[in-house]
Amino acid sequence: MSENRGTQGRYAELGERLRQNKDSRADRWAQYFLMLLMYLAISALAISNEAVSAKLGLPIHKPVVVLDAGHGGIDPGKVGVNQALEKEINLAIVLKLKAYLEANDMTVYLTRETDDGLYTSSDSNKKRADMNHRCQLIEEIQPDLVVSIHQNSYSQEGVCGPQIFYYKTSEQGKKLAELLQERLNSMPECMNRRVVKANGDYYLLLHVSCPIVIAETGFLSNWQEAGMLVTEAYQDRLAWELCLGIVEYLR
Ligand SMILES: [Zn+2]
Repeated sequence: MSENRGTQGRYAELGERLRQNKDSRADRWAQYFLMLLMYLAISALAISNEAVSAKLGLPIHKPVVVLDAGHGGIDPGKVGVNQALEKEINLAIVLKLKAYLEANDMTVYLTRETDDGLYTSSDSNKKRADMNHRCQLIEEIQPDLVVSIHQNSYSQEGVCGPQIFYYKTSEQGKKLAELLQERLNSMPECMNRRVVKANGDYYLLLHVSCPIVIAETGFLSNWQEAGMLVTEAYQDRLAWELCLGIVEYLR
C-alpha cells in the first residue's frame, strides 16, 4: 500500500512536472506570438505614418536646416546709408526665420545666435577663422539645406531689391534659390524684382557640400530699402516669405 502510494505519488509528481513543462512551453509560444503581434503592429503604424506623410506631401523625416547670419563681432558687414549694421539685420531676420521653421516642424541650427563672430582672440586672421568655423559647423551637421542671410550695397543709390545667390553647378541650390526669389518678389513691398544669380567665388558656396544659398535681402545703400530693413515688420515679412520658400523646396 505504501509502495503503491509511492508509485502513485511519483506518477502524480511526473504528471505535474510534464504539465508545468507543457505550460512553460505554451507560455513561451504565447510570448513569441505576442512579440510577433507587437512587431507587426509597430511596423504597420510606422508604414501608415509614412503613408500619411507621403500623402500630405510632407517629408517623412524631420528636415534639418542651418541658418547663417552673415558677419558678427568685429565684422559689421555693410554699413547702411542710415548707419544700420548688416550683421544686426542678418541676425534679426535669422532669429525670426528660425521661429517660423521650427513652427513648421523643422530642426534648425544657427551658426551664431549672438553678436559674436565665430573666431577667438588668438586667431590671427579672424575673418578666415570665422568663415572656416561656419563651414566646419555646417559640414558636421550635414543639413538638408543652408540659408545664409546678408545685405547688399552698391555705389549707385538707386540699385535695390533682394537677390538670391547659389553655387553655379548646384541644381538643388538653384532650385532653392529660385523658390526663395519667387517668394521675395511676391512681396508688395519688394522694391525691385530681381532674378537669382549663379556664383562660383563666395567662400560658403565653395566650401559647403549640401544645398546652400546666400540671400541678400536688400541694399543698405538705398535709403528707402535700408529704412525698411531696420524695421521689425519688414524683417518679419522677409523671414515669413523665406520660410514659405523653404517649405516649398522641401516638399
Ligand atoms: Zn554680408
